[in-house]
Amino acid sequence: MNLFSESNLSPDILKAVGELGFETPTEIQKQTIPFILTDTRDMIALAQTGTGKTAAFSLPILDMIDEASRKIQLLVLCPTRELCLQIAKDIKNYSKYMPNLKSTAVYGGSSITDQIRSLREKPQIIIGTPGRVIDMINRKALDFSEIQWLVLDEADEMLSMGFKDDLETIMRETPETKQTFLFSATMNKEVERISKNYLTNPHRIAVGSINEVKKNIKHEFYVVGYRNKKEALKRLIDANPNQYSIIFCRTRMETQEIADFLMQNGYAADALHGDLSQAQRDTVMKKFRLKNINLLVATDVAARGLDVDSLTHVIHFSLPDDPEVFVHRSGRTGRAGKDGISISLIKPEESRKLKQIKQSTKIDIVEKKVPTGDAIIKAQVAGVFEKLFTIHEDFFEFDDKMIPDLSEFTKEELMHKMLQVQLRDMALYYKDKNDLADQAFSRDRDDNGRGDRRDRDRNDKGRDRDRDDRPRFGDRDRGERPARARRSNENMVRFFFNLGKKDNLKKVDMLDIINKATAKSKKRPDIGDIEILEKFSFFEVEKSYQNEVVSNLASMKFKGKEMRAEVAAK
Ligand code: AMP
Repeated sequence: MNLFSESNLSPDILKAVGELGFETPTEIQKQTIPFILTDTRDMIALAQTGTGKTAAFSLPILDMIDEASRKIQLLVLCPTRELCLQIAKDIKNYSKYMPNLKSTAVYGGSSITDQIRSLREKPQIIIGTPGRVIDMINRKALDFSEIQWLVLDEADEMLSMGFKDDLETIMRETPETKQTFLFSATMNKEVERISKNYLTNPHRIAVGSINEVKKNIKHEFYVVGYRNKKEALKRLIDANPNQYSIIFCRTRMETQEIADFLMQNGYAADALHGDLSQAQRDTVMKKFRLKNINLLVATDVAARGLDVDSLTHVIHFSLPDDPEVFVHRSGRTGRAGKDGISISLIKPEESRKLKQIKQSTKIDIVEKKVPTGDAIIKAQVAGVFEKLFTIHEDFFEFDDKMIPDLSEFTKEELMHKMLQVQLRDMALYYKDKNDLADQAFSRDRDDNGRGDRRDRDRNDKGRDRDRDDRPRFGDRDRGERPARARRSNENMVRFFFNLGKKDNLKKVDMLDIINKATAKSKKRPDIGDIEILEKFSFFEVEKSYQNEVVSNLASMKFKGKEMRAEVAAK
């Protein structure tokens, strides 16, 4: 089967798949589609996200499912809410021309009563996370006694997240006669054990190389010592303007640390990792999808739930141990016919690890030097022009009369001035530290790679403000939780807030909103500058409250209007 049209799938499915632009089945689909359509055995497939595994099991099952019956026939279990929603969306797309087919996603972190209500549609397919499925079984809302197919998706992940008992409980609720398909990225002892106990004589499928190495991705690596890593990251971000990237880290702590570093330095960045609540993760992913932030710092596991096609770069802040993970991470860019760049930061002692990755993936990873300040400014200028020619929308009402008489300047002189204004801060930052290897610079900077002129200015201003005895907003009587006198800027994060004077927002309202958004915390946050502008506002809050403010504001309203706070861009 080299083309979908050569498979035995029904015309309704082929039509839907064709409209999605799928012509040739992926490696795993070539193996699973004929097998599932004709065989009654269980199956174990070694495959990761990105191999087309969702279509690999759902297309043949959709082909065989009984649309006329209102019984649940397929149960798909997967580890996270994001994956659950992704699979549900894919199945909806594949079954676009099956009018009587219904599927429902059930997952934690969302109202169980709403989900139970949606079961009134009598879906033939349930896609769920183990915990929520058990809750539903306990409430007698779900009955799996007649299912024909059980899919365990990302089984290794479900087991490592501690869902073993839940999986076993659910499997006991399903009939012996069903067919079970287990998908896993890795085959570890736990997965083997569960397969042995719950699958009968399974047919095994492994997709050759789990991740296809894409030719349209350029791979670069930069050797930097531990102390300079963050500064090198900053330089690589500055040298690649207009980027939309995921920065991969190894641990949750490192992820948060790097995201904090970028946010403190004024980048539109945020962190995605397992220590965040579901609501926080959702908010971050939404911001990234909507491009409110352009840099997402993530762990491998947390990034799995995110499906975006237009990444310009993938940055490996830390190298993974497994070469497959390197290929998988890099494959997040260069999608949908675009080119992509994968950037790796390598500590000198990691050269062996890099060699291993190069050897086993056969990827040509080219060494480059961390850009100098001069090169960065050049790239920034090019970035301004790139933006100039790609922006086609107006963000404010423009009137020619706003432009004063400029006849004494040539267009080059004008461009020169505009670029100086635009790139002033960046140029000042790199002025005395053109080269990362510059010793003078290394001595000057603190561990955060800050200590530059801009920050010194800012800190001085902060100290001046602290010496200032005038009453502050926090000194006003605002009930039980008055804001405390503000500290210097370095502990603060500056937010963009979507409401302003036109919404009748006053400073005192802003304080009230911040206090409400942080009401659950034991300690009151420090609140810094509040600037209420016509259409939107800015405010500063102590850094450690950042996630709380963003996620809580998203569910609050001011005079009936939805509120949204984002870390302000540079
Ligand atoms: P998955 O591994 O199921 O997460 O799928 C990865 C991505 O590949 C999804 O965006 C699918 O829509 C897409 N995809 C799946 N099968 C094909 C195919 N045969 N041709 C092109 N794209 C596909």
